[in-house]
Amino acid sequence: MQLPILETNLDTIAKDTAAKEQENAAFITLLKKLNSQELDAAVQRLELKITPAIDCTQCGNCCKSLMIGLNTAEADAAAGFLAISREDFDDAYVEKSLSGKMLMSAMPCHFLADNKCTIYDNRFAGCREFPALHLPAVQDRLFTIFMHYDRCPIIYNVMEALKTEVHFETPIV
Ligand code: SF4
Ligand code: SF4
Repeated sequence: MQLPILETNLDTIAKDTAAKEQENAAFITLLKKLNSQELDAAVQRLELKITPAIDCTQCGNCCKSLMIGLNTAEADAAAGFLAISREDFDDAYVEKSLSGKMLMSAMPCHFLADNKCTIYDNRFAGCREFPALHLPAVQDRLFTIFMHYDRCPIIYNVMEALKTEVHFETPIV
C-alpha cells in the first residue's frame, strides 16, 4: 500500500481532529467489530511504515504534553546517569500522584531540550512505549489511542491510513 503524504503539523491535526469527531466515533465502532488479531497486524504494519517517516525531534509533543510516570528502578537509573543522589533527583524532578505513583513534576518534561531527550538511554518505559501502536490488543486500547490522536502525528497518520486500508467510509452527517 502506497502511503499518503503524512500530516505532521500539530495545528492542522488539531483542527482535523475537531472536524472528524463524528467520523472517528464511527471509525472506532467499526474497529471494535474487526478481528482483534487482524487489527493488531494491520496497525503494526502501518506503524512500521509510518514511524520511520516521522521525525519525532521535529515534534516532541508527547514529552511536552504528557504526565510521564516512572518507577523506582527508572529513577535510580536516571539519577545515576545524572550523577546525583536519588534524593536530589526526586526533589528536582519527581512528584507523587494522589495514588502514590511517581511522576515527572513538570510538563514539558524536565529532560526535553531542543525537542530531544537528554536522558535518552535512560528514558522511562512509558516514553519508550509511546505511542504503543506496536503492542497487541489495539481493540482494548482504542479509547487511549484516540485520546492521543490529536497529540501524536504517528497515531494520527496510522489511523488515517487504517481508514483507507479497511475501506472505512466517512458517514454522511
Ligand atoms: S524522559 Fe525523555 S523521552 Fe521521556 S518525556 Fe522526558 S524528554 Fe521525553
Ligand atoms: S511519538 Fe508522537 S507525539 Fe511523540 S514526538 Fe513522536 S510523533 Fe510526536
